[in-house]
Amino acid sequence: MVNHMEVYEGKAKRIIPLDGEKAIMEFKDDATAFDGGKKAKFKGKGWLNAQISAHLFRVLEEKGIKTHFIGVAGDNRLIVERLEMYPLEVVVRNVVAGSLKKRLPLDEGTELKEPIVELYYKDDSLHDPMINHYHARVLGIGEAELREIERIALKVNDILREYFRERGIILVDFKLEFGKNSRGEIVLGDEISPDTCRFWDAKTKESLDKDVFRFDRGDLMKAYGELYRRFSP
Ligand code: 5GP
Repeated sequence: MVNHMEVYEGKAKRIIPLDGEKAIMEFKDDATAFDGGKKAKFKGKGWLNAQISAHLFRVLEEKGIKTHFIGVAGDNRLIVERLEMYPLEVVVRNVVAGSLKKRLPLDEGTELKEPIVELYYKDDSLHDPMINHYHARVLGIGEAELREIERIALKVNDILREYFRERGIILVDFKLEFGKNSRGEIVLGDEISPDTCRFWDAKTKESLDKDVFRFDRGDLMKAYGELYRRFSP
């Protein structure tokens, strides 16, 4: 939670508070999967994820989404607005993959009739359990805030799905995190990168995301680099 002046050290990022309402979000080269059970370092991953996140935040801002992104502050660093984060991971899904296969009797790759939004309580010691609105309200998150968070998540999905479709990529699913700024506004925080999204090449269905690392599907940096290349003119 970025609501004081301590450096916050995450698995793949570091948040360094600055004076005022700003912070630096530093992307590390570390990759972790399966609750930290699998770890590795990929030189250049932090740089790529910072560039990809910055780019996607700009795309969203242009379409009217409030994000914490302020600017790029060097190779693997972004300047962001400081937020008091909700302890939530908000997952949006368009295509069956990952943990959804344990919940619904649908095959991997099946396109969903409508997007699914899921809430998870962000807590490593509980292994980020899936929760519903009742659980979230008990945690102190109001119903109106939950509905607003889900509305923004679905709008982000509409924008990014179209953006990637135009670039030959299927946005399978992704995870967002939200916080409140000093004016009490709900703002999209964290990152949007191949660490937090599933991207499939529309033709080959090849993964261009962290599944390459999770399931040893080849060269992670090549996959992330290919994703980044698709944004370039
Ligand atoms: P799943 O629930 O299928 O494992 O994940 C759904 C989507 O959310 C995937 O795109 C995955 O990368 C992202 N996601 C879910 N939980 C986490 C998390 O704790 N960390 C990261 N980096 N991504 C997550």
